[in-house]
Amino acid sequence: MEGAEIEYVKRAFDHNYIAPVGPNVDEFEEVISAYTGVKYTAVLSSGTAGIHLGLIILGVERGDEVIVSSFTFSASVNPIVYLGATPVLVDSEPGTWNMDPVLLEEAIRERRRLGKKVKAIVIVHLYGMPANMSEIIRIASEYGIPVIEDAAEALGSRYDGKHLGSFGKIGILSFNGNKIITTSNGGALFSDNKEHVQKARFLATQARDQAPHYQHSHIGYNYRMSNVLAGIGLGQMEVIDLRVEQRRANFKFYKENLGLMDGLRFVEEPDERYFSNRWLTTILIDPDKAGKTREELYLALEDENIESRPLWKPMHQQPVFSSCPAFLNGISDALFAKGLCLPSGSNMSDTDRQFVLDSIIAVFDK
Ligand SMILES: *Cc1c(COP(=O)(O)O)cnc(C)c1O
Repeated sequence: MEGAEIEYVKRAFDHNYIAPVGPNVDEFEEVISAYTGVKYTAVLSSGTAGIHLGLIILGVERGDEVIVSSFTFSASVNPIVYLGATPVLVDSEPGTWNMDPVLLEEAIRERRRLGKKVKAIVIVHLYGMPANMSEIIRIASEYGIPVIEDAAEALGSRYDGKHLGSFGKIGILSFNGNKIITTSNGGALFSDNKEHVQKARFLATQARDQAPHYQHSHIGYNYRMSNVLAGIGLGQMEVIDLRVEQRRANFKFYKENLGLMDGLRFVEEPDERYFSNRWLTTILIDPDKAGKTREELYLALEDENIESRPLWKPMHQQPVFSSCPAFLNGISDALFAKGLCLPSGSNMSDTDRQFVLDSIIAVFDK
C-alpha cells in the first residue's frame, strides 16, 4: 500500500456504501479504462470470475473446446471446466514463454478436423511478458475464434504501445494480494464492446431482470467487487506506474549482476514491441553449465530465509488436467525443470536485493 488507499476506503465508510456497488466501484472502472485505453471495465471479485464470465459472454457451453496456454496458473483453465467445456492445452514458444502461435494454429486445425467446436482462445501473458499478439490475433481472426487475454499478471505491460487485454475481444485483470497492484482480492473484465461489459455486470450481480421485484431469466453469479475494496484499487492505481518501475528495477538489478554467469539466463523482451511489467523476475538455471540445479538454488535460498519458487508447473503435467488434449513441444517442461522466480516485491530495498544477490552468488561459488 502507498498511502492514498485508506482515504478512498474511508470515503466508502463516509458514504456508507459498504456494498458491491457505489462511487468507488464506478470510479475504479473509469480509472482502469483510462489507464489501459480499453473503453469499458467491470470490476469483479476476482480474476478467475472474470475469465468465467468472459467465457460465458463468448458463448462457451458444455461440450465446446477452449484453447488455453498450458504454461500458466490453474485459474486460467478452471473456468473452462466450470462450464463443462474441454481445455485444449497449447505449449509455449521459447522467446516469450507464452503460447506458441505455430502450435496454436496446429491445435485449431487438428481439433476442427476431429469435428470439435473451438469456441475461444485464452491467451496468458505470464509474469507480465506479452505474448506474440500480432501472430496470435492474425491466426485467431483467420479462423474466426474470439480471444480472451488473461492479463492477470500483466497490468502495465504493453505490446506495440498498447496495453495487454486490448487485443482480444475481452481482457482480464487480477488484483489478488500477490499481483502488481492489489485490492486484497479482486479482478476486472474489460473490453471495447459495451454489451460484453454490461453483460458481465449483469451476470456478476445475480442476473436480475429489470423489474421492481426479484425476477431472473438467466443463471447469475455473485462476482461484483465491493465498494470498500474498489477504494483500495483507486489508491493503488495512483502508483501503478511506480510499481512497474520498481519491478523493472528488480529485473535490471538481477540481470546486470547475474546475466553473465555461466548457465544462468533471463527471459528477454524479444524486440521493441514488447514491454513487460516484470511482475516477477525469473531465472533459468542450466545445471550442466551452472554446476547447480534449480532445486539446489531453491533450497540454499530457503536456508537463508529467502523465498523463491519454481516457475508455474504446466497444466498438462497437473493430475487434474492430464487427460486434456495437449499440443506440446517440450518448452514449458524445460522451463518448469530449470526455472525459478526470484524475490520481486515492489518494496525490496537495495539492501534486500544485495542480500539475495550475494546469497545466489555464494551458491554458485561453492
Ligand atoms: C492470479 C491469476 C489468475 C486469477 O486471478 P484471481 O484474482 O486470483 O482469481 C488468473 N490467471 C493468472 C495467470 C494468474 O496469475
